Amino acid sequence: MIDSHLHLDDPKLADQTEQILADCRAQGIEFVINNSCDYDSMVNSVKLADTHDNVFATIGMHPHDSKSFDDKFVAAMERYAADPKVVAVGEIGLDYYYDLSDRAIQRDVFAEQIELADKWGLPLTLHVRDAYGDAWDILRAQKKHLNHGVLWHCYSGSAEFARQAANAGHYFAFGGAITFKNARKEDVTAQIPVDRVLSETDSPYMSPEPLRGRVNTPLNIPLIVAKLAQLYQTDVATMDARIRKNTLTLFTRIADYLNSK
Ligand SMILES: [Zn+2]
Repeated sequence: MIDSHLHLDDPKLADQTEQILADCRAQGIEFVINNSCDYDSMVNSVKLADTHDNVFATIGMHPHDSKSFDDKFVAAMERYAADPKVVAVGEIGLDYYYDLSDRAIQRDVFAEQIELADKWGLPLTLHVRDAYGDAWDILRAQKKHLNHGVLWHCYSGSAEFARQAANAGHYFAFGGAITFKNARKEDVTAQIPVDRVLSETDSPYMSPEPLRGRVNTPLNIPLIVAKLAQLYQTDVATMDARIRKNTLTLFTRIADYLNSK
């Protein structure tokens, strides 16, 4: 199984990282993708990826931190982009729920990082909350730079929007939220072909049921894959194999790395 989005360097997990990654190996969780949010987490993500066979990294500025996006950050991205364990630009996007950075700055930083990802041949991992319309407008405006794949992390939009993005060939990662009782997950997954689905935990956040409210770890990924198997009316082994194939299709550097071993 695969966890395509988490934050092992978060203070809630940082002191247990080695144990968690050893437990992942023992429990058949093949690899995880540690996502960047700001300068420090980008440095930490790449360091984790470079020192652990079963960790890959993204580079990028979260919409919350858009206000600290500057030349120094771009120069660091540029350096890291050549690292074979760096597999995407993320998590980038718009968050109008928390509004921790000015919306106009969020939009500019999102658009710029789309261009950078294209320059380096990397896919995008998106974080979008309460801003699907504006996010779509930016993606449309940057269409000529969308050549390496788009992943909607922790997708929380409507079924209609899911259909629109799925029709554009985008991927969707689902985590703990799909196990919550009130989620409209059947309507959403009905719009998304099974070959566009990925699994994630977003650890240490978003623990799935029945662990909701606790600190999340990648060891909970089987709960997500089981729920996706149920939603796609298949068995866990088939769903797991499908997710692995999807993940390696989107994140081509992971496929290259595994083939080179
Ligand atoms: Zn995240």
